[in-house]
Amino acid sequence: MRKKLLLGNWKMNKTVLEAKSFAKLTAPIVKMASSAGILVGVAPTYLSLDAVKSNSSGLIVAAQNCHYEDHGAFTGEVSIPMLKELGIDWVIIGHSERRQYDNETDEKCNKKIQKLLANNMTVVYCVGETLKEFEEGLTKEVVERQLRVGLKDLNSEQLRNVVVAYEPVWSIGTGKNASEEIAEDVCAFVRNIVKSMYGAVSEELLVLYGGSVKPENIAGYLSQADVDGALVGGASLKIESFEAMVKALI
Ligand code: PEP
Repeated sequence: MRKKLLLGNWKMNKTVLEAKSFAKLTAPIVKMASSAGILVGVAPTYLSLDAVKSNSSGLIVAAQNCHYEDHGAFTGEVSIPMLKELGIDWVIIGHSERRQYDNETDEKCNKKIQKLLANNMTVVYCVGETLKEFEEGLTKEVVERQLRVGLKDLNSEQLRNVVVAYEPVWSIGTGKNASEEIAEDVCAFVRNIVKSMYGAVSEELLVLYGGSVKPENIAGYLSQADVDGALVGGASLKIESFEAMVKALI
């Protein structure tokens, strides 16, 4: 049985103090979740990683990005050894906002993923189509390309440290949800593509849906056979709705 995962993506929100206050309130939520077999985590900004990590226990603390080089002349970037020093071992790669604003290509994602997995880190790899691609019926073509390039040249053992998040770009932060049927159809497709690349380990792969998930709709997505969890932006920012999402899954 695959575990469930709820991961909050805080994007460029919360100061260090705000992040720390949130972290301090997570203990009972993590306890409630873990007794129901649910993993929970948040991805704060780089600045707040340490504060969240050191003011929580059992909460997954993920970075929102990283560079594939260990050090060097890459102004504004943060490397894997820097994250590891803080005890961070989860990283989101290929979020659509990074693809859109920061030229995050599938090839660049693959470089980062290779490096992260070589460092025994866990990767949450985001895939998903734009509204135009969705309207043109290209969802699966786009998602397949993102998977085949982003996850190329790994081995099946490494796949155990990969989570894939299917996030239709048109539903991120827009309040326009993909239906449960679309989420299930594409998440099952993700699992099948990974199966064709790496075999039976795909049955253990956690596949998340992301896009305007909130307490009122999260249970519907997670009731789908191939949706193992959710990557949540807006609704993960307030401790009350974060907690309500966990409660909705129990
Ligand atoms: C996200 O940031 O990955 C996301 C899905 O955002 P939201 O839940 O706000 O749509």
